[in-house]
Amino acid sequence: MHTERPTAERRVVIVGAGIAGVQTAVALRDQGFAGQVLLIGAEPHQPYDRPPLSKAVLLGTAEGSAFEVDFEALSIDLRLGLAVTGVRPLAHEIDTEEGPLPYDVLVIATGAVPLSLPGSEGVPGVHLLRTLDDAERLRPVLAEQHDIVVVGAGWIGAEFTTAAREAGCAVTVVEAAERPLAGALPAEVAAPMADWYEEGGAKLLTNARVGHVEPGEVALEDGRLLPAGAVVVGIGARPATDWLAGSGIDLAKDGAVLADDHLRTSVSDVYAVGDCASFPSARYGERLLVHHWDNALQGPRTVAAGIVGEAPHPYDPVPYFWSEQFGRFVQYAGHHGAADAMVWRGDPAGAAWSVAWLRENVLVALLAVGRPRDLAQGRKLIEAGTPLDAERVADPSVPLKAAAAA
Ligand code: FAD
Repeated sequence: MHTERPTAERRVVIVGAGIAGVQTAVALRDQGFAGQVLLIGAEPHQPYDRPPLSKAVLLGTAEGSAFEVDFEALSIDLRLGLAVTGVRPLAHEIDTEEGPLPYDVLVIATGAVPLSLPGSEGVPGVHLLRTLDDAERLRPVLAEQHDIVVVGAGWIGAEFTTAAREAGCAVTVVEAAERPLAGALPAEVAAPMADWYEEGGAKLLTNARVGHVEPGEVALEDGRLLPAGAVVVGIGARPATDWLAGSGIDLAKDGAVLADDHLRTSVSDVYAVGDCASFPSARYGERLLVHHWDNALQGPRTVAAGIVGEAPHPYDPVPYFWSEQFGRFVQYAGHHGAADAMVWRGDPAGAAWSVAWLRENVLVALLAVGRPRDLAQGRKLIEAGTPLDAERVADPSVPLKAAAAA
């Protein structure tokens, strides 16, 4: 039976030492939490940031991407290389490979795991790209300049292709949909992005499905054979929540922890944050599962505020992410639906352009390619909900912030 203890004696256990877990620990101290903080991570490495893995770390221009956090000075107990295998909320205990551990408050921050290509698991030369170990295995592959087949023209596929081309590899990208980023962006917006592959010296095969993978070769369903010194699979990720099965904590069909608007789960004293959790957004009128860095950075402040007993605002961010691909800086803020009106700012064949999505003349989302100022201003306009003049939005010489409706 669990009894409430004075705050200074309470023990917060955070499972997952990625950015969401680390930031939760840091935010707890920032917000004055004086009890114990135990941060548990399955990976053996000092906690690190993932975005550089498909960029500088992959190319070897950065050695690593460890967070600059002094855990000792913040009295954060780090337990690395320890997988948590289950949680028993009634007992307020988690199970680990080394036995049970008690908690007063539990924070689930286990992130996501990449989807593997069915039938390719265990085939030599097939790689995923999620962890530092994955990136370190891929570095020599790039250095040896193999022929590489990338499966999936999403964000990770595009960034990996960029790095592999930079390293001088021949790259063929196999995409089952008719265009890159089919799940994320409409056809008109993704069309210019398809050209970036060719411009970057990679071959993009769309409407192409992998039949099977053998060492050294990828066979497509239509019979084409692609030489493959290595295969890199980037076909998405799913929340890393298998360990919660049977715990009573509600999960969605996609595996995400169903958090509320304060990132609390269906079970008391248990929160969830980052890539593993979805939350209801009043701003967008739907539940969001965001697999991007900024969400894993912002959410922890709401979690910490809930734990220290402050009445925080509901968690309802304007989602944001960026991607660096084919020499371009791509940024997106907000969340759009098929019914929103699309307004172009600039020529998509050029080096810098944006697309705005308006709902009843209010900006709900913005994609900026090489126009960081549009992004910065757009993000504020989305947050403020300011009505805009669509004609002025369409003129790239007018700063977005000056496009407010008269
Ligand atoms: P994670 O970073 O996945 O961390 C979760 C941690 O929990 C992991 O270390 C895992 O080992 C651990 N864990 C899991 N299960 C258990 C368990 N049972 N017990 C103990 N520990 C466990 N986003 C952008 O916006 N822009 C980018 O440019 C960008 N680039 C990216 C490049 C790559 C290669 C990758 C993989 C992601 C990129 N992202 C980017 C996405 C961003 O990194 C993620 O959204 C972010 O890492 C999510 O943080 P998280 O802490 O929720 O999860």
